[in-house]
Amino acid sequence: MKVLYRLNSAGYQAYLVGGGVRDLLLGREPKDFDVATDASPEQVKSVFNNCRLIGRRFRLAHVHFGREIIEVATFRSNQEAAKQDDRQLENGRILRDNVYGTLEEDAQRRDFTINALYYGVEDFSVIDYAGGIDDLHNGVIRLLGDPESRFREDPVRLLRAVRFAAKLGFVIEPATEAPMNRLAVLLQDVPAARLFEEVLKLFLAGTALETFEKLRHYDLFAQLFPATEEALTHEDHEFPITFVNRGLQNTDKRIQERKPVTPAFLFAVLLWEPVRLRSEALQASGTHVYEAVQIAASEVLAKQAKHISIPKRFSYPMRDIWQLQSRFWQHNGKRPHRLRGHPRFRAAYDFLLLRAESDEVDQAEADWWTRFQERWPQEESPQAEEQQTQGRKRRRRRRKPKNTATADD
Ligand code: ATP
Ligand code: MG
Repeated sequence: MKVLYRLNSAGYQAYLVGGGVRDLLLGREPKDFDVATDASPEQVKSVFNNCRLIGRRFRLAHVHFGREIIEVATFRSNQEAAKQDDRQLENGRILRDNVYGTLEEDAQRRDFTINALYYGVEDFSVIDYAGGIDDLHNGVIRLLGDPESRFREDPVRLLRAVRFAAKLGFVIEPATEAPMNRLAVLLQDVPAARLFEEVLKLFLAGTALETFEKLRHYDLFAQLFPATEEALTHEDHEFPITFVNRGLQNTDKRIQERKPVTPAFLFAVLLWEPVRLRSEALQASGTHVYEAVQIAASEVLAKQAKHISIPKRFSYPMRDIWQLQSRFWQHNGKRPHRLRGHPRFRAAYDFLLLRAESDEVDQAEADWWTRFQERWPQEESPQAEEQQTQGRKRRRRRRKPKNTATADD
């Protein structure tokens, strides 16, 4: 509100737009607030002391209030795109999008009608050029303009349609939905780093299971996680899909309870089936289980990196979670204590519980570890501290097997 009032009194138009308006109208808590204005980024900066300009391609103003940031963007235009020098199109895809425009033009370049609502403080009303209010009331996700060309312009909109449908419990209206399966392959052209960000938003919004099912329905999941899709479709057993379902349900529950969720665990769940299958094949041809998992993990991560780039800070813990699984079967002597002291023990144990719940492994195995922890609470386990540091040293010295492609290399 401060940003809107301040820009108005400096003589500019200013509106709250996007998810902020949508979520407030739905009685939900907005994740962030975006403001659209006819002031240029430099003009915005001159109005606020607490303002920074960011971005080279898209110049945006960030107005800071303590830890909160209000993103202020100048109205942009989607019109006459091809004619503008500032903006290039390649196969219908937007490469640059830096042409300023009017409020109406700004509304037209947004993705869905429910995201193109503008709230202003001149008269405290919502401006709706595209029928967004009706769609909000009817629970409809509708792309503005011609769906096929809007999806081609930016294929990430395919994922956004699914994300909002799942998160808000809305339906994607028929004309928007019609080309989705056919256009799913366009995700191949989206940079792997952007897809990583989008996948996090898809699976960390509290409706991961619903989102997963919709992604598969629209053939989008196969574009994001081809190895997983392949493994799930060609599997005769129930447990791999149960495992993913349970893992996603867990994630949703943790988010509802406002507990932290780590992307590493989520990605470890999503990629487990291909890792498991590959490692079993390697073991069948005589490779030791430890090495088999290591090789399988490297191969699966390397292939996955072509689609979604998973930063090392997540792929390293993923490898640990997978690698530690084989060590759960060693119950003798100090080994369980050593495993217990591993920094990633807790995540690996949660992973084991999921495998047991989905009948991939014997529940008795998970129970053994549950009892073990009850018998040896962390503080009382004499080796724990010591082993933790040793474990780290040992890991550092261990070498990777030769001739193994690694996603992280
Ligand atoms: P949330 O923040 O809850 O995920 P949001 O709708 O605010 O949802 P943002 O990614 O924050 O989504 O984007 C803000 C607004 O910018 C959107 O509401 C939409 O109007 C516009 N927008 C974002 N991404 C796109 C896109 N790929 N194509 C067209 N418009 C977009
Ligand atoms: Mg937002």
